[in-house]
Amino acid sequence: MSLKVVLKGVKWKKAVLPYPFQPAVVPEDFRGKPELSYETCIGCGACAQACPPEAIKIHDDMDTGTRKWVIFYGRCIFCGRCEESCPVSAIKQTEEFELSSTKREDLEIVAMFKLYKDPLGDVCDYTVREYQHAITLLSSSSLGEEGLKDLKDRLSLSPRHKVKSTIDSIVEALKPGLKR
Ligand code: SF4
Ligand code: SF4
Repeated sequence: MSLKVVLKGVKWKKAVLPYPFQPAVVPEDFRGKPELSYETCIGCGACAQACPPEAIKIHDDMDTGTRKWVIFYGRCIFCGRCEESCPVSAIKQTEEFELSSTKREDLEIVAMFKLYKDPLGDVCDYTVREYQHAITLLSSSSLGEEGLKDLKDRLSLSPRHKVKSTIDSIVEALKPGLKR
């Protein structure tokens, strides 16, 4: 061992960190385990779309009208794309990194959401919380009362019923001309 190395060791005092006997101090902006705030999440699935290794997945069951959101930490690469893509800051990376387990279920978190059902009975491919979020955003916009009501009415319908309602209003508008 050269004198240079010995002198460096004396200068640094400690060559080995006390972890795991003491908690590790992680750097600022450390990208650890992403954690979901179920109360804040609207179940939109933007995080699942953004997740490169598909550690987050969503599955819609139109029969039961539910959306299942699942994160499997065994696939997570701690990239932070989920946090960046979330429109309501419901998923955030924490400082936690000790995730090893012998059981797969310890690495999986499931959240269930209700899918939106329109007034005419269609189950839509978005959640009740997404619908409510859109209404809240619309309500805080500068649209006039009439425009707002029209948009809210349209939003309340499923895509299929929106098309039907548009066709009905076109037929209604054309009626006077058709009678002549
Ligand atoms: S941190 Fe990256 S890999 Fe992990 S769940 Fe989020 S988007 Fe997916
Ligand atoms: S992007 Fe955010 S709000 Fe949407 S499902 Fe993921 S965590 Fe929930």
